[in-house]
Amino acid sequence: MSDIIQLLPDNVANQIAAGEVVQRPASVVKELMENAVDASASHIKVIIRDAGKTLIQVIDDGNGMSSTDARLAFERHATSKIRTADDLFCINTNGFRGEALASIAAITHTTIKTKQEDQELGTQIKIHGGEVISQDVIATTKGTNIEIKNLFYNIPARRNFLKSNAIETRHIIDTFQRVSLSYPNINFSLFHNDSEVYKLNAGNLRKRIVGVFGTNTNEKLVPIKEDTEILKIDGFITKPKFSKKKRGEQFFFVNNRFIKSSYLNHAVVNAYEGLLNHGYHPSYFLYLTVPPNSIDINIHPTKTEIKFDNERDLYAIIRSTIKHSLGQYNVAPVLDFERNATLDTPYALINKSSKAPTINVDPDFNPFKSNQKEIYHKKENSNWQSLYIESEKEQPIIQNIEVEAEIINNKLFDDSSDNEYNTTYQIHQKYIVSTIKSGIVLIDQNLAHQRILYEEYLAKLTMDGMDSQQLLFPIDVFLNPSDIEVLMGFKSDLKSTGIIISEVEKDRVIIDAIPITIQQNQIIGFIEELIENFKNEVPESSLSQIDTIAKCLARSLAIKSGSKLTNREQENIFNELFYCKEPNFSPFGKATFITITMEELEEKFNL
Ligand code: ADP
Ligand code: MG
Repeated sequence: MSDIIQLLPDNVANQIAAGEVVQRPASVVKELMENAVDASASHIKVIIRDAGKTLIQVIDDGNGMSSTDARLAFERHATSKIRTADDLFCINTNGFRGEALASIAAITHTTIKTKQEDQELGTQIKIHGGEVISQDVIATTKGTNIEIKNLFYNIPARRNFLKSNAIETRHIIDTFQRVSLSYPNINFSLFHNDSEVYKLNAGNLRKRIVGVFGTNTNEKLVPIKEDTEILKIDGFITKPKFSKKKRGEQFFFVNNRFIKSSYLNHAVVNAYEGLLNHGYHPSYFLYLTVPPNSIDINIHPTKTEIKFDNERDLYAIIRSTIKHSLGQYNVAPVLDFERNATLDTPYALINKSSKAPTINVDPDFNPFKSNQKEIYHKKENSNWQSLYIESEKEQPIIQNIEVEAEIINNKLFDDSSDNEYNTTYQIHQKYIVSTIKSGIVLIDQNLAHQRILYEEYLAKLTMDGMDSQQLLFPIDVFLNPSDIEVLMGFKSDLKSTGIIISEVEKDRVIIDAIPITIQQNQIIGFIEELIENFKNEVPESSLSQIDTIAKCLARSLAIKSGSKLTNREQENIFNELFYCKEPNFSPFGKATFITITMEELEEKFNL
């Protein structure tokens, strides 16, 4: 038998390695931005075309490379950042593996231009799929300008697996945010298809956070500072009242590297104990500095998890530091000497001249009209009075209940129950109880109402859209740019809900009209929730987008647990739930009601 083992040619080996380092356009953005940071750049410009699928370009004014180095940089394991194994324990650069450029060049059309400060002329190298096409001497400015075109052009399977432009762009923006938050002292800009998404000037951390997440973030921040032997903490958390329904803006940086840690996240959330409403999350931007030898430095470029030697101690320090700051903040306003005065002017007022106050009179105001609303909004087309007046006609209400075969063919209400008495009761302002022939039914008011609204909205959205009300004063919704990208991805479907967005800016959208079913003060929460759902569920087709919108509308607007319901409201929910096509489950798949049969009850008493 002849020998059959061969060493893979470099470009094949690089292509295989590339699959690990480069998962999507955002991975390239991360590597190139980090290289620019490592090269001590003070200005880093990122240019993207078609969500990075056709072009990713990073221009820096850092140290640049000599012509030999520029050539060598594309070899595997070529790095200027470590020399010996010992260096691994005191890494203070982003890169150190020397893999990124070789990997990226193996699967793209790459052009690099680079020049060191003291050189007259610079170097340009073109590489296609790992093969050097040309190397030239060129005139260029100090620093490095690297252009990556046609990602995965030679691995069609990978290219086909890239997600929609909206999703890939979101990943890029997430990456850009993480790197730019790590280095507030560097100027960063991001352009997508020629429009400027971010222009962040160097400054302090507060200014950077505000630059990334919008001017209205400023008032929300509470500074955090602690210095112990094993851990130094810097950064900001948000005041409890600004906590959000979505997890969005939660950032840990360890030694300037963005990491995810559900354990440390728990420490933060735990410190807010008693200050957050159920289901709300604080935002935080926490910069942890630990001795480099207390973490596992062998972090894979695509991983954001990290191993600490002393996780429990860190947990305790983080928790108590945050608790302390929240306590202080609650007692006295925070003194922040880093504060930048221009940040304190509300965004919309900075460029506006003052206006004489006007008095608005509502000609329709009627002091005798009660404005007490029933919490449960009646459907326009359902006529609950008829349920009372003509209750005989309405009797076979629950034809399609699927709980038990026995019920399906029977009348729901126990015949013996006297109509003068309530047929439903509310317990703990959470469940509606009623008797049915086979026993009792317990309905979760919130989940049931979600189901009812969901079916109603879905029908309306797919038929002719929901009615909307024009707002007298448009609402500004401040969002971070990646969320705006997500929102814009389903703008047309949003329109059918009655939400009309008139203007889109870098960090906010202006809403001109909202659905009639929604209160003005609910709209921001609703939009945040919608974005979060879209991020998690990633609906690709328009139909599933409408479905997601209907679900979120239903969840936002359904009566909540803890709301007291009148008897009428209870009965409406009861009846309308069982009119639904799928009464058994909430739109998010939870059971809307449970039944307890007489046998089950009797069994309990005969124990
Ligand atoms: P690593 O960053 O792990 O060292 P890379 O493949 O990302 O590996 O880069 C290889 C080398 O190329 C770096 O060590 C650095 O010396 C050089 N390099 C890469 N990008 C730049 C840049 N923007 N400016 C200057 N040098 C760079
Ligand atoms: Mg690198």
